[in-house]
Amino acid sequence: MKYVTEYRDAALVKAVIEEIRRTVTRPWTIMEICGGQTHAIVRHGIDQLLPEEIELVHGPGCPVCVTPLELIDKALEIASRPDVIFCSYGDMLRVPGSSRDLFSVKAQGGDVRVVYSPLDAIKFAKQNPDKQVVFFAIGFETTAPPNVMSAMQAKKLGLENYSILVSHVRVPPAVSAILGSPTNRVQGFLLAGHVCAVMGYHEYPPLVEQFNTPMVVTGFEPLDIVQGILETVRLLEAGKVEVFNAYQRAVTLEGNIPAQKMIDTVFMPVDRKWRGIGNIPMSGWDLRPEFDAFNAEKRFQVETITADESPLCIAGQILQGLKKPHDCSAFGKECKPEHPLGATMVSSEGACAAYYRYGRVK
Ligand code: SF4
Repeated sequence: MKYVTEYRDAALVKAVIEEIRRTVTRPWTIMEICGGQTHAIVRHGIDQLLPEEIELVHGPGCPVCVTPLELIDKALEIASRPDVIFCSYGDMLRVPGSSRDLFSVKAQGGDVRVVYSPLDAIKFAKQNPDKQVVFFAIGFETTAPPNVMSAMQAKKLGLENYSILVSHVRVPPAVSAILGSPTNRVQGFLLAGHVCAVMGYHEYPPLVEQFNTPMVVTGFEPLDIVQGILETVRLLEAGKVEVFNAYQRAVTLEGNIPAQKMIDTVFMPVDRKWRGIGNIPMSGWDLRPEFDAFNAEKRFQVETITADESPLCIAGQILQGLKKPHDCSAFGKECKPEHPLGATMVSSEGACAAYYRYGRVK
């Protein structure tokens, strides 16, 4: 398959790893921000093939993992109502709230439906005028365009029974929070290629300068990832502080400007709480007041619901690159994919799930 097969060529990957080995002279800690990259790294054993000087740590770029517990509880409260059809991407159904998940709401008779696009939820709203249809709009910049498009579509169609429960987060404020933390140990970043395909990478040069940390826009296939690591190591070894685009087949500096304009029409920047990490200023998006009619939190009056995290779960430290999943005392014991304690064990992009699935016990 074009753009896939050639980026999984084992001989090419091996050659790039050899080049990394020739280039590196001292230890470096590099964070891949995106959960999709974490899974690819662990699945293909890339971290185990790298020279020992390079440590990869896993960032908070998994939207399911960082959706705050209280927002899951709000989703559960709304989905339990008899007049609601609650629509979500499949990976949110097993994410534990304080006491249950969306699957258990469905088992108890709630109308919870898995959709592949928010436009499916719009279709349900048109077909069921006597029901309230709610779409669980979570994600980073990548999923924002279809989600805002659904609000625009609902407004255009005059749908009064459609709303979205928004938990959108943005990568640059998270990078800033990680690098600005007194416990930070990240020296170089692999930036998420799909986020940059939408937003471009013009937001990162000021961060690179402020924190003196090089960043490389990186894709998701094995060759993309080792190339991203090589370019990061080259910058680190040369003492260069800049952004390098190693994913030119999908990413430009400016990104997708029509998509950015559409997002800006519907969403505004807000402070967001990240599960396990806490509040990061201006790290999220929420609906603008002009779209209040489509705001599920306001429609169902669940804004005041709050929740506390499990004391056993150290996902917050894992998502900041401070710990690895096997450092958690509950890993593989009280916490497994069948009965997860934290979202990083549930999500297909979560670091704990990746370590469990591919047998990374130590
Ligand atoms: S293994 Fe489970 S409890 Fe431990 S950090 Fe991961 S998700 Fe949380």
